[in-house]
Amino acid sequence: MIPYVELLAYTQINPDLDTTKFPLYDVLDLIEYSGRWDYGPKSLTKMGNRGIIQRWIGSGEESMVEMGHAVIFIQCSRVVSHEIVRHRLASFQQESQRYVDYSAEAPEDFFLDIGEPEAMASNVAALETYNRLIAGGEKKQIARYVLPNATRVRMVMGANFREWRHILKLRMHTSAQPEMQIVAHGIHDKLLAKFPEAFEDIKPYLEAGERAVR
Ligand SMILES: Cc1cc2nc3c(=O)[nH]c(=O)nc-3n(C[C@H](O)[C@H](O)[C@H](O)COP(=O)(O)OP(=O)(O)OC[C@H]3O[C@@H](n4cnc5c(N)ncnc54)[C@H](O)[C@@H]3O)c2cc1C
Repeated sequence: MIPYVELLAYTQINPDLDTTKFPLYDVLDLIEYSGRWDYGPKSLTKMGNRGIIQRWIGSGEESMVEMGHAVIFIQCSRVVSHEIVRHRLASFQQESQRYVDYSAEAPEDFFLDIGEPEAMASNVAALETYNRLIAGGEKKQIARYVLPNATRVRMVMGANFREWRHILKLRMHTSAQPEMQIVAHGIHDKLLAKFPEAFEDIKPYLEAGERAVR
């Protein structure tokens, strides 16, 4: 298994909006528009200058960035899922080891390979024990106790842009778990590509080629 992320959804403008009255075409317009209301109608006549979003961020004003929301699919190990759910302002839904039967899984798809043959052998042995328990009639919610931290988790995580910015600053840092850094850099790549003015000040610590699990 390799860590993997995808941008599933993000804030869209009401397609029926009267744009002669509300000149909004995408989420970055919405952020700019919301922030400009601080300064009243005169500022709204200057719509279309998204550079102001980074100026607000640079001066510590981020509440308008909360108007954007993004939902990300994440595939990672149980190590990283355990860490990422600590971000309390985000919303989560994740695959349940209580309901899903993993006995047909191939070890290379089911475990993060940290490059230590001894570790993968231990994971394979754990999966074999899991399979024996399931074959013996044990419930999935009980058999799962033998699964290791390297076990694959798939989840959907949603947060507003301000919270994503907070998460990315913490989790892209070189002090974060190496796999977490990969996940966070992947999320940043996706968000930066779509919403540059909301994420361009958050600088990657790792080049794309350096993003290995260890
Ligand atoms: C490198 C690294 C190492 C870590 N190591 C450990 C560890 O060893 N052990 C451990 O237990 N955790 C560890 N953590 C997790 C860490 O303690 C936080 O739980 C996690 O980063 C979430 O941070 P947060 O509370 O800022 O974020 P979020 O939950 O994303 O909240 C965002 C912000 O909202 C505000 N906020 C949210 N909830 C409240 C609240 N109830 N009251 C007031 N303000 C609130 C705060 O300003 C907060 O910063 C580690 C995190 C990192 C990045």
